[in-house]
Amino acid sequence: MKMLLDGRWVDRDKTIDVNDPYDNSLVDTIPAGSKQDVEVALSATVKGFEITKRMTVYDRAQVLYKAAGLISGRLDEFVTVIAREASKTINEARKETSRCVNTLTIAAEEAKRILGETIPFDSFPGGEKRRGFYYRFPIGVVLAITPFNDPLNLVAHKLGPAIAAGNAVILKPATVTPLSAIKLVEVLVEAGLPPQAIQLITGYGSQIGDPLVSDERVRMISFTGGVEAGKQIASKAGIKKIGMELGSDSPVIVWKDADLKLAVASCVSGAFWAAGQNCIGVQRLLVHRDIYDQFTADFVALTKKYQIGDKLKEETDMGPMITETEAKRVEQWVAEAADKGANVLTGGGRKGALVEPTVLENVPGDAKIHCEEVFGPTVNLYPIDDLDQAIADANALPYGLLAAIFTRDLETAFKAAYELDCGGVMINDSTDYRLDSMPFGGVKYSGLGREGLKFSLQEMTEPKVVCFNLPGM
Ligand code: NAP
Repeated sequence: MKMLLDGRWVDRDKTIDVNDPYDNSLVDTIPAGSKQDVEVALSATVKGFEITKRMTVYDRAQVLYKAAGLISGRLDEFVTVIAREASKTINEARKETSRCVNTLTIAAEEAKRILGETIPFDSFPGGEKRRGFYYRFPIGVVLAITPFNDPLNLVAHKLGPAIAAGNAVILKPATVTPLSAIKLVEVLVEAGLPPQAIQLITGYGSQIGDPLVSDERVRMISFTGGVEAGKQIASKAGIKKIGMELGSDSPVIVWKDADLKLAVASCVSGAFWAAGQNCIGVQRLLVHRDIYDQFTADFVALTKKYQIGDKLKEETDMGPMITETEAKRVEQWVAEAADKGANVLTGGGRKGALVEPTVLENVPGDAKIHCEEVFGPTVNLYPIDDLDQAIADANALPYGLLAAIFTRDLETAFKAAYELDCGGVMINDSTDYRLDSMPFGGVKYSGLGREGLKFSLQEMTEPKVVCFNLPGM
């Protein structure tokens, strides 16, 4: 596939293979973008912004509605690309594609609600004759950098609001999963987005990341990815706005009055969705001691039923990790925890990039799998006796994206909701629940700012004040 620079789809002699992580078969190749390509993208986007900032809200919304419609009409094509290039099973890919249609549709709707306000200038002496308002104008060139794990919908979460806001955008998708992103850009152009409004540059972040990130023509970086890359980007960005959606090691409290069946089913799915490569995937389960044995037995039994393997088969519950290297890392983290005294209740094995769904208990506090984001199909169980202690344990790590609690008691639910330190608390759902229109993002190392269309639009626009001095009034 090609990249889109200065209104033209181009390829390069140097290419990068995109392989299916299940069997390593070649899916396609992409151009390895260079620093020269970065310069082309940057100067073209500045010209692109001259076009997008003059597009009416109606025109921007129409592009997004039309793109959503085109994807709906080609669902199978998109689903297959996700299920080939990424870790996701065909069923997981279906869900992501339908969410992408929803994301673009909401972006179109929210484009019509970018509102300003009148300002009461006469609220302080000296402002008597002044009348005015503020409105929100597009921020300019947005650089969107996206991860591998939701290769379509997380791209839509950046392109949708950037277009809705009237910005021009440069997209750099993850190198292991760029194909869904390329197809999305193709559809946006087909839907009427002026090709100069969007640049799509493929290539390694380690090579083209710095010149993109540090350039002063970029007015906002919208990044989703890991904390390490986030830190590097922040250190290079200079003075520009930064939105960051980073990792987590999501805690879920299962209180003694929980609906056990619901909690088990929801947490098993939440732990192993997309082979655990999910920023809101369940990593730490804090289970009340009164129900710990029953919960553990049921959780392990359901986990053992998981079918892992070929992503394209309808009956497969979980596919491979994104690369064998990543699978080996998770295997090592499990081994390290086991060496330090953790019990592996099920799983722990690996074949190529396939890692068995793995459940651990007695995980010591200094094991990587406890204190860092695992981003793989493993989950840790911890017995708890006290709600304050459970909340303190949940808050103890430097992440805070989503947290969750299963309880039937309102006061327990409210206490958790107010005291868990994170961007959102799910009650009677695992952390793996996101509505694309809700404000989404984290505190601490989990991120900066919020996504979720209406909220991304706030981040991707700036208020401008207009004040009339009317001495004759
Ligand atoms: P990653 O390694 O951080 O890469 C993310 C993106 O950043 C890729 O496009 C990558 O390019 C690029 N990149 C890496 N280093 C860069 C640099 N120095 N300058 C500019 N760009 C750079 O993350 P990943 O492995 O793809 O994704 C997994 C991580 O994303 C996890 O930590 C997960 O929690 C997080 N995530 C967070 C959310 C959220 O909404 N909070 C959602 C999904 C995922 P290359 O691919 O070329 O290296």
